[in-house]
Amino acid sequence: DRLVAASADREDQAVEAALRPKDLGEFIGQEKVREQLDLVLKAARARGATADHVLLSGAPGLGKTTLSMIIAAEMGAPIRITSGPAIQHAGDLAAILSSLQEGEVLFLDEIHRMSRPAEEMLYMAMEDFRVDVIVGKGPGATAIPLELPPFTLVGATTRAGLLPPPLRDRFGFTAHMEFYEPAELQRVVHRSANLLDVEIDAAGAAEIAGRSRGTPRIANRLLRRVRDYAQVKADGVITRDIAGAALKVYEVDGRGLDRLDRAVLEALLKLFGGGPVGLSTLAVAVGEERETVEEVAEPFLVREGLLARTPRGRVATPAAWVHLGLTPPRQAAG
Ligand code: ATP
Repeated sequence: DRLVAASADREDQAVEAALRPKDLGEFIGQEKVREQLDLVLKAARARGATADHVLLSGAPGLGKTTLSMIIAAEMGAPIRITSGPAIQHAGDLAAILSSLQEGEVLFLDEIHRMSRPAEEMLYMAMEDFRVDVIVGKGPGATAIPLELPPFTLVGATTRAGLLPPPLRDRFGFTAHMEFYEPAELQRVVHRSANLLDVEIDAAGAAEIAGRSRGTPRIANRLLRRVRDYAQVKADGVITRDIAGAALKVYEVDGRGLDRLDRAVLEALLKLFGGGPVGLSTLAVAVGEERETVEEVAEPFLVREGLLARTPRGRVATPAAWVHLGLTPPRQAAG
């Protein structure tokens, strides 16, 4: 439910389709990935062939689903979307694979979360466009080979390292998606504002971009909340002041930290002098579960260089003191 969560909530799901770039030219940022993918797709098109399998790795909300749709659009092919957790049995995968059309793109999100038997079936499907469907059980079981039309698998995962090497090796092209630069997010905000018919100036877009944690999905979500504020409290136009005031209401600060992030930092600084302090102690101090602090708040704080995880416990960096406007005690300053 956090406004700055990277994963999609219900509202995102409802509006994201309208905000998705439709081709590579519209896709903002990720220069290297775009350039490489453009070559892969153009070459396949020139050969009249189905594009190679593509692996996209990167954090949630960076545009993996969007890119998979663009791949299909650029190839003039239909797309089928599913995810690793939805494929628990090899039979589930066989059903999907056998119903694919020639050239179709199969987008498999969270591919690292597929079951082992399904994964093994996928190896053969990717390499030989063939699967063995097992009929029956025990000694009487027989494998019936099934030819598949050529298709393009687009796998998505948060980290390519989570995939077993035999699976990773079967992708012809692997792209790692990075967090976006503020200037790129500013373009994302402008583009989305245009599509949503919202008036915004450059400073307003920059203000939202700077708080979006490098993630287009968060940028689009913050834009919608700021739009609400601009409509209710002002004339609908988003300026820097309006964006700042709106995000103050939603407790997203200038660097994209929300209430939980700040509570963790504040406890670390004010109660424990900047650390080191153990995770459990820190969690009790903010009244949260260990897992919440570790998995929800800390990754971004670490990425931002505000908190470090050390063998002796959590430690605040000098930047954390600056960010919260506090003076470090002598020993932390030295
Ligand atoms: P998840 O892994 O959580 O499914 P994802 O990486 O697949 O996330 P998308 O659903 O593709 O992310 O993107 C989230 C939203 O961000 C989309 O609505 C899309 O409009 C926007 N977006 C993503 N990348 C870009 C981009 N490069 N340019 C413009 N908008 C983008």
